[in-house]
Amino acid sequence: MKNRKLLMIPGPIEFTPDVLRAMGMPTTSHVAQNFIEVFGQVLEDLRKVFLAPSGQPFVVPGSGTLAMDMAAANLVEPGDRALVVNTGYFSDRFAKILERYGAAVTHVHAQAVGDAPSVNEVESALQSIKPKLMTITHVDTSTAVATNVKDLAALGRKYGALVIVDGVCATAGEEMRQDEWGIDLALTASQKALGVPPGLAVVVAGPRVMQAFSTRTKLVGNFYADWTEWLPIMQAYEGRKPSYFATPAVNLMWALHVSLKGILAEGMEVRFARHKKLSDAFKAAVSALNLKQVPTRPENCATTLSGVYYPQGVDKGILKYIDEAGVIVAGGLHPAIREQYFRVGHMGAVTGSDVIATVAAIESGLSRSGYIFEKGVGVVAAQRHLL
Ligand code: PMP
Repeated sequence: MKNRKLLMIPGPIEFTPDVLRAMGMPTTSHVAQNFIEVFGQVLEDLRKVFLAPSGQPFVVPGSGTLAMDMAAANLVEPGDRALVVNTGYFSDRFAKILERYGAAVTHVHAQAVGDAPSVNEVESALQSIKPKLMTITHVDTSTAVATNVKDLAALGRKYGALVIVDGVCATAGEEMRQDEWGIDLALTASQKALGVPPGLAVVVAGPRVMQAFSTRTKLVGNFYADWTEWLPIMQAYEGRKPSYFATPAVNLMWALHVSLKGILAEGMEVRFARHKKLSDAFKAAVSALNLKQVPTRPENCATTLSGVYYPQGVDKGILKYIDEAGVIVAGGLHPAIREQYFRVGHMGAVTGSDVIATVAAIESGLSRSGYIFEKGVGVVAAQRHLL
């Protein structure tokens, strides 16, 4: 028997063999000429993946939370006003981080779990608060809700706020055009649609953000995250020169280099379209099985993951059955509905066959949980969509 299951959680995801091979290669010096070249190319390629030709990339050992911390630490000074477009668990986290650096945070909450705040609600908050910055969680991993980043970013710009997008569960899967949409800072982590094992925090900061950073009056309150230290490092590597502040995650950088080349070979437009198609196929299966999604409206549905309520009479015991059918999916995360739903990630190198296998495993779990449905109806719906 094959002792390997398909990992379909919203990160870490399945990684390609070439990325994993880079992880296993003999580690080079962080100032070796070939590593400097790789680091330099990574920075150049990140601008292309984020569609941010004017951006300054930072790649630092750490997770997505460090990328959030880095954005807040370098931009917030005590007393600054911040607006958090709140779609769930990770928006709450951003608020806590901003507050840690002294920001006065106002939330614009979704009306209900699974919803996103409307553009009008955000506009009136921007009007009355006039924040220095606003944060948007592109895809809230706790609810599978995607926000309308394009329109919200335009609004933020209109009211003079720096627009910060948490793309941890989105970037390189969900459509995002940093420069064109007026996003001042976008951030992510390696383990999701970027397709590299956990351990890298990635931030791309636009000119308005770098300008705001350069006019700070107070020291950055976080030594490790301080761009005063990291900016010269990024500039040195991009100029193909050795430099040191803190040891880079060498093998992860080699792996990111491989992954970014793969992403750019696929092409961003094709990649966005593939994520949409696979997501639609999975969601078609969910509907055919008469299951309800957490996002309340189709335009709020992420393409990188899905959140699905357990039907009547089924509970999280189904996760074990799905696992026994060879696929690992994730349980609930949002505190208000944690026990009522599960999450399936479909991003990165995921294929149509992975989606079909996942739907088949979910059908197996539903069947073993006593749920009544026409066997195979989900698989057929997904396959129809894919074909
Ligand atoms: N933001 C979002 C939207 C996320 O999904 C996550 C991780 N699931 C984070 C931030 C935090 O990232 P990490 O767990 O890598 O620190």
